[in-house]
Amino acid sequence: MTLAISARDVDDSAIIEELKRWVEIETPTLNAGAVNRLVDRVEAIGKVAGLETERLPGTLGYGDVLAVRSPRPEGSNVKTVLVLAHLDTVHAVGVIGNQLPLRQEGDKLYGPGIYDMKSGALMALEAMKLAVKHGSRMPVDLIFVPDEEMGSLSSRAYMEEAARTAGYTLVVEPARDGGKVVVARKGVAMYDITVRGRAAHAGARPQDGRSAIRAAARLVLELEALNDTARGVTVTVGTIQGGTGRNTVPAECRLQVDVRVPDDVIAGEITAGIEGMRPVDPDIVFEIDGRMNRPPFAQSEEGRRLFDVAAEIAGGLGITLEGMVTGGGSDGNFTAALGVPTLDGLGADGAGAHTFNEHIFVSSVGPRTALLANLMISLEPK
Ligand SMILES: [Zn+2]
Repeated sequence: MTLAISARDVDDSAIIEELKRWVEIETPTLNAGAVNRLVDRVEAIGKVAGLETERLPGTLGYGDVLAVRSPRPEGSNVKTVLVLAHLDTVHAVGVIGNQLPLRQEGDKLYGPGIYDMKSGALMALEAMKLAVKHGSRMPVDLIFVPDEEMGSLSSRAYMEEAARTAGYTLVVEPARDGGKVVVARKGVAMYDITVRGRAAHAGARPQDGRSAIRAAARLVLELEALNDTARGVTVTVGTIQGGTGRNTVPAECRLQVDVRVPDDVIAGEITAGIEGMRPVDPDIVFEIDGRMNRPPFAQSEEGRRLFDVAAEIAGGLGITLEGMVTGGGSDGNFTAALGVPTLDGLGADGAGAHTFNEHIFVSSVGPRTALLANLMISLEPK
């Protein structure tokens, strides 16, 4: 197919220079001030490009949400192409000066949050500028959220509102395993469980105590027994904390649990199972607090057609596009669950998300920005 935008139309060296500035502004999710410094920069770029911007003050202690929109016909109710990006990272401030300095080694450009997902966020903005210049069939809404790495609690409603008028959603989370895009994601549930027992002197009055740690240990095994590789269910007790001292029967023990499920039916079954867990000892209490955070993102028929369009465009750019399913959640879970055809993993290729080995492949930036721009241009209202 003939493409509106070729890889040569993308100024990838300018993107890389700007990307380095974005990475230098370290943006841990819980540091709203830091995230907002990057929001300032992104907003300014949108304004300079003549795009409409809308900035919502942060809530729940997170940074601001920023939407960048292409011009649209007055009073038009044409469906949009919704593009989702996040500006927060899992890395603390100072990582760039220590464990993960910004540096290039061959084709690899290292830095905190560079792969997940400042590169994708910037590529989406640059692709949108190209698409607007060329003219797209559908208006493009690009939303930058400040809190994806903590579950998008402050930005979810805004994204879901935007999804109501969206014909498609493109998510610029990183590509993986040689440039694969993400066509489905598991749903994610998060639980905080407090096990309450009764304290007692471990030597003098052990018979008065009810060990919360012992009850929690039994509960851990019960929770992890829900793991089912064949059905794609994972249940992980990620942290455990309990007790006050060696010589005291522990009155309290806390667990943090991560749950991943492939579809709604299994989600209902597993969450009901967890929420129905009861202590064996009547003197022990379980306080189970949690729920599904991100609904499963299963590939729909329309989602498959969206992948096919992307694969055809990619072919024109010399990229063989492959789809994959991942256990990691993203904001694409929200839009897919609302029935909007969603394609994810459209950001830069690289590796090491959430680690001190995080890097992108510089050579992937130009072609994948062109892929995004062509997708924005060529998608049509159904
Ligand atoms: Zn991410």
